[in-house]
Amino acid sequence: MKTTAPVSYILLLAAASIFTSSCERNKPVQKTDAPVANPISAKEYTVDAILYQQQSGEYRALAYQAFSLARLRTDEALKKKKPKEKLAIVTDLDETMLDNGRFGAHLINTSKYYTAALWSEWESLKKADSIPGSVSFLKYADSKHISIFYISNRSQKGLGSTMENMKQLGFPQVDSSNFLMRDKTSNKQERFDSIAKTYHIYMNLGDNLNDFAGVFYHQQASDRKRLTDSLSSNFGVSYIVLPNATYGDWEDAFYGYYKVDTTNDMKFSRRHSLLVDY
Ligand SMILES: [Mg+2]
Repeated sequence: MKTTAPVSYILLLAAASIFTSSCERNKPVQKTDAPVANPISAKEYTVDAILYQQQSGEYRALAYQAFSLARLRTDEALKKKKPKEKLAIVTDLDETMLDNGRFGAHLINTSKYYTAALWSEWESLKKADSIPGSVSFLKYADSKHISIFYISNRSQKGLGSTMENMKQLGFPQVDSSNFLMRDKTSNKQERFDSIAKTYHIYMNLGDNLNDFAGVFYHQQASDRKRLTDSLSSNFGVSYIVLPNATYGDWEDAFYGYYKVDTTNDMKFSRRHSLLVDY
């Protein structure tokens, strides 16, 4: 049997519903100490630098320019080579031979800062690209029987993935004996010295001053500039520099190489305090 609710009962229910939803709207907002999600990525400030390296023709042009110069200096070194001398190139990997722009982009997109674990995950993917002009330059040096030493602050643990990635990209002399990864220190001077015992290193390639000489290692920003000026005649001759505005000791120097706890707010303030206005 079909039953119908009386009209007065339906009106009562509707009024109660309106009253309840009105109370919900007027309920005071409960205060909480829970952090508010920041819609701006922690690494937002690196967007332009990453885009410059991933998307600009100018970045590629600078890389080609560096490797053209490296080739010219190689030809000069070959002409000057003494009969029993063994020539060697020492090169950094990241942002010198290998392009990790996608890792930087991933940090922005996921609002994360660099951690060793994230980096190691990236390395294991073997997705780094080659810097424009890098493979053809090293192949040229290889064709001239020049030894190539890859001196990197990637960890020894990641050597297998790094070598596989580089083989896929076509780099020459990808043999574990040509790699000197980070051991007890990220200062590369000892590793340079160990090669210089047997070889004449006529050229270092890098994106970081630490790739050229230990004298730059963990210096403060003003000293890095002063030392660069004092060694200015080496740049473009025995030191070939690749551009990298996305990360490096140049930035870490601003934060004292993280020897003390550095919050994001402190880093933000530090960066802005260093801007040179007119
Ligand atoms: Mg590097």
